[in-house]
Amino acid sequence: APKIIGLTGGIGSGKTTVAHFIEEFGFPVYYSDDRAKTIVNDSEELKIKIKDLLGDASYDENGRYDRKYVADKVFNNRELLQQLNEIIHPAVRIDFENWVKKQTKYLVFKETALLFELKLNRQCYKSLLVTAEDNIRIKRVMDRDDKTYREVQSVMEKQMPEKDKIKIADCIIYNNTNLEELKEQTEKVVFSIE
Ligand code: ATP
Repeated sequence: APKIIGLTGGIGSGKTTVAHFIEEFGFPVYYSDDRAKTIVNDSEELKIKIKDLLGDASYDENGRYDRKYVADKVFNNRELLQQLNEIIHPAVRIDFENWVKKQTKYLVFKETALLFELKLNRQCYKSLLVTAEDNIRIKRVMDRDDKTYREVQSVMEKQMPEKDKIKIADCIIYNNTNLEELKEQTEKVVFSIE
């Protein structure tokens, strides 16, 4: 079985950029958040459970998951959010396990925003954190998503503090400079994992 490396980072840290570099170096990456978005549409079982929890409007007239509706429903309702996660997370875990079985490389990467929050690092051989200074991250997301400083900051404030993640992570990539240096650091880290 391949060794699983959990890849994570807060908003705008550059984890997706790092994941793409990792794929360029020939290693497979499982994108948990992307997969979750697919699974909520593909699984009839999930559809039923989510509708039971949040209402039929969780899916639109074409049967597509209505992210906006669901996000509004669970916004500021920790109990509902937790129940929703208890439906979605096990399905993603099973999907991931099936994906891993198909991989032939000695290392595979699992990109998850909530690696430490959900303690998914316990199921990984090692954790790899991408981090950068708050100001840099905020500016990058403002450019990428056309958001205000305050909007990005408020998302950041709800995430696990960077200093706590740095304490737990096995490997850390500091993404405070340019993409060339980010790629070099990624290469070094990836090929030094044994
Ligand atoms: P999110 O969790 O918000 O999806 P992320 O951690 O996946 O963010 P990315 O999308 O990889 O972060 O990076 C955020 C933005 O910053 C992107 O537009 C990306 O191209 C840019 N970026 C990342 N690293 C650098 C860098 N070193 N130099 C310049 N731009 C960068």
